[in-house]
Amino acid sequence: MVERADDELRFAADRMLGRLVKWLRIIGRDVIYGRHLSGQGLVSAATRERRVMLTRDRGVWRLNRDRCIFIRDDHFREQLKQVVEACGLDPFAGLLTRCVACNEPLQPMAREQVEDTVPPYVFETQEVFSVCPGCCQVFWPATHQQLMVEELNRLGFSAPGN
Ligand SMILES: [Zn+2]
Repeated sequence: MVERADDELRFAADRMLGRLVKWLRIIGRDVIYGRHLSGQGLVSAATRERRVMLTRDRGVWRLNRDRCIFIRDDHFREQLKQVVEACGLDPFAGLLTRCVACNEPLQPMAREQVEDTVPPYVFETQEVFSVCPGCCQVFWPATHQQLMVEELNRLGFSAPGN
């Protein structure tokens, strides 16, 4: 069992878990993932960076039960649910605060700085912008937020106050 349930909880996922990784990043979690992260590669990277391992490999899980979650289901929705529940994560606390592609935390960006970067209608209608320091993509979370919240609601999670 994984006992730490706090904001510092970070993950290393094996290469079977691409969609789960995407969703964990959507809810703001730091997850490393890549082709090199399977078997011993996963264990070494997770150990070095003190990350909780997410794996579908029973062999890896058996040898590392204290810092590993064995992902039971094939479907990312069930997988996300399992991780959120096992770690006591709040899926709304960090929603859309991390770049899904790079795993970098997004940085706030002043509205006047994005005028030349985003489409004019976006500039006119949005107030809040952020940028990924990894890929330099500019985000305006408001547009995605509702879709993500709806998806999380479908999974049975509801935001505080809803
Ligand atoms: Zn990025």
